[in-house]
Amino acid sequence: TATLINGKTSAAALIERIAADTALLRQKTGVQPGLAVVIVGDDPASQVYVSNKSRTAERCGFHSVQHTLAAETTEEQLLLLVAQLNADPKVHGILVQLPLPTQIAAAAVIRAIDPAKDVDGFHDINAGRIASGAAHEAFVPCTPAGAMILIREVLGDGLAGKHAVVVGRSNIVGKPMASLLLAADCTVTIAHSRTVDLPAVCRMADILVAAVGRPELIRGDWIKPGAVVIDVGINRVPAGPGDPKTRLVGDVATAEAMERAAAITPVPGGVGPMTIALLMLNTLTSACRHAGVSV
Ligand code: NAD
Repeated sequence: TATLINGKTSAAALIERIAADTALLRQKTGVQPGLAVVIVGDDPASQVYVSNKSRTAERCGFHSVQHTLAAETTEEQLLLLVAQLNADPKVHGILVQLPLPTQIAAAAVIRAIDPAKDVDGFHDINAGRIASGAAHEAFVPCTPAGAMILIREVLGDGLAGKHAVVVGRSNIVGKPMASLLLAADCTVTIAHSRTVDLPAVCRMADILVAAVGRPELIRGDWIKPGAVVIDVGINRVPAGPGDPKTRLVGDVATAEAMERAAAITPVPGGVGPMTIALLMLNTLTSACRHAGVSV
């Protein structure tokens, strides 16, 4: 059966290193990395994500500010806050939690963030750099960047020539994930909601990344024996039939997939913790660039 890839342990180790480097950066340059997290409205899942991010930023020794705006906030008001944060020298990273209420165009807000402070890596400039193979000059979106670290923990330098299948084509996960795998010399297939015979496409994958948002869509017999499976999905489902309590499952039927995969990330405890750790790393990177020192 498959090895479980422990994202919690990897994330904890990374955060420890970030905290140490943050202390060193402050000591050498006086610069303290600053992360501003903005949330609009009261979506409960978003609130959990945001408080996790702020708490982890504090644990890293960052200057951490959280802006909580009412659900009725206008796009103009949010753009004004973004402009203030762009101009704030104590802030090196700006994160606007998505989704935003319908009266606000997320694309306009993302475009308003200074690309040099866009630690989510969603700005067109950063997306463009990643797509043109200059990820080292960009901020890479945290979820795919974290997923790459987990893949390398299993495969080391052995990614070249592997067939990677990414299921999902979002700007946040699927597309940048495919770019990173391509930059690592994988043969990359992107599958999505219009893909014909998804099981057959998945069966070609030496590396399978699921970023769909459909609970346990990917079944055990879709997995190529020996594959590395990265399950990005976070889906809340009833804990049992008719049960009001809920539990989290991924996009992959984990127990079934474990019969065939070589290694797989669990949900929770796989990609999720890495996402937050990479947000911290991007913020530290931004502060280092600002201070003119290498990370
Ligand atoms: P999204 O809704 O923007 O994109 C989903 C993608 O899946 C689309 O490109 C769509 O084409 C594809 N898709 C939908 N139904 C499909 C089907 N039946 N077959 C094949 N493809 C299908 O979602 P997203 O933002 O990319 O997130 C995907 C999942 O990852 C969600 O469950 C989300 O909660 C989770 N997520 C987790 C983290 C993390 O930190 N672990 C971060 C971001 C997103």
